[in-house]
Amino acid sequence: MRTIEEVLEAGWPARYVHPEWREVHPWLAQGTTAAGDDCDLRLFGELPSNRVLMRWERLREVTAAEEVVHSRQVHGGRVLRHGTAGASGIRLAGEADGHVTAVPGILLTVAVADCVPISIVDPTTRSIGLLHAGWRGLVAGIVERGVESLMEAGSRPDDLYVHAGPSICGQCYEVGAEVHEALGLSDPGGPQPVDLARVVGERAGNAGVLAERMTRSAHCTRCGPQWFYSHRAGADGRQVGYLVVRADRRAP
Ligand SMILES: [Zn+2]
Repeated sequence: MRTIEEVLEAGWPARYVHPEWREVHPWLAQGTTAAGDDCDLRLFGELPSNRVLMRWERLREVTAAEEVVHSRQVHGGRVLRHGTAGASGIRLAGEADGHVTAVPGILLTVAVADCVPISIVDPTTRSIGLLHAGWRGLVAGIVERGVESLMEAGSRPDDLYVHAGPSICGQCYEVGAEVHEALGLSDPGGPQPVDLARVVGERAGNAGVLAERMTRSAHCTRCGPQWFYSHRAGADGRQVGYLVVRADRRAP
């Protein structure tokens, strides 16, 4: 999969967006928020919730979304489909690590701090999916389930675009041999780094996504000059990957 460099979009909360998708899929708002002053979006923590909810509300506004959907994430393979928009605001859905929808105005979100936020886009059906993937989620089949969920709604895998957003890079994420084994990789004989985004690309490719339609972020949440929350680096905060079919750019 090709490496691209997300660009910082003006405004608050700070967020990085896919520069090509912004041009190719203008009917979408896609990106990952960054770390920074007043940018922590961790919902299930100990921050004063009114501050955090204000940031989420702001993210909803800047993406022109009507409703935000978020879940408590459990490093599993469950993907939820959102078929109708609810009231304006934030909806906490059941425990899940993935979301799909074709409804304009529903902002799909996943919280990350080293794990991979994966955006899946079908410009033909104007359907989208957003996944949260660490090694456990990859083992649980979250990538395959995400692609399947879109296919169940009429997508063809070779129509899909997949992007692995800012996450911990293949040099920073050292894990034990048991993780390599669980991911189906060869036994390194001891702790060695794993490149999660590369595994994402392999899984998506096996599910039928075309290599030329897959990209991965150049930004590492741990070692890059860009500022992201990194669990491995000791951060408690969370950034948010987001994806929405813009309600203000309906198909003609
Ligand atoms: Zn790194």
